[in-house]
Amino acid sequence: MKINDHLLVDDFVTQHPTPNRGGKLEPKYLVFHFTAGRSCQSSVDWLSNPKAKASAHLVVGRDGKIVQLAPFNVVAWHAGKSSWNGLVGMNNYSIGIEMDNAGKLTKVGSKYRTWFQGEIPENEVVQAKHKHESDMGFWQAYTDIQIERAEELAILLVDTYHLKDILGHEDIAPKRKNDPGPAFPFAHIHTRAFGTQDHDDDVYKVTIDGLNIRKGPGVEFEAVAAALSLGTEVTLLETRGRWSKVDVNAPNDIEGWVNNKFIIGKA
Ligand SMILES: [Zn+2]
Repeated sequence: MKINDHLLVDDFVTQHPTPNRGGKLEPKYLVFHFTAGRSCQSSVDWLSNPKAKASAHLVVGRDGKIVQLAPFNVVAWHAGKSSWNGLVGMNNYSIGIEMDNAGKLTKVGSKYRTWFQGEIPENEVVQAKHKHESDMGFWQAYTDIQIERAEELAILLVDTYHLKDILGHEDIAPKRKNDPGPAFPFAHIHTRAFGTQDHDDDVYKVTIDGLNIRKGPGVEFEAVAAALSLGTEVTLLETRGRWSKVDVNAPNDIEGWVNNKFIIGKA
């Protein structure tokens, strides 16, 4: 992936200019969203419809395909009423990326329903607590390729535009918004884009039961200890590609490499 004249270039990227755009943008932040939509195409159509009065710079499909609606140096209308760090109206300060994802789900019997009366298969459902809420909820998972793209985009955009931070719509409009939600691996993407921070709060939690911890960054390396159980707390030491070197907090004599898809930042 690369950027030419504020446009993303790669085989899996298409340009679909939206009329829903403002003036010149000098981005300082990157803001992630979920579409809460039916499909990537339906979201692209809506965000290109003048009636929507909404848009974003990119929409990332569940298959990893990316549609660009506005160049990164032009204001897109993704943030609405919002503020961060003394700035008000974050459309004027940020690049907006929409991830195709249905958002929060309602469990009806054994089915998981979207707000638009769609249904999500159980293997795409994660149960998690949103940081603005007190109870656990059900959310559609992001696909692996979507998370990979989000990660690549974050690294590329932070580097190209010297962005100060990566935020969620839920951070800049906390009273109105819950996207991209708890299924989005923020801590991981933040670490990839800005590097590991050198302080004590780089604590992550294991998100599956039986996570292998290995001598090196790859499945070819042998295990250094028994597999880690769900909820084990680890401190992130180093990230290399899809692998992270971690220190297991208890017992604290274990250090090794885990697939970073299965650890999530402790919010
Ligand atoms: Zn949003």
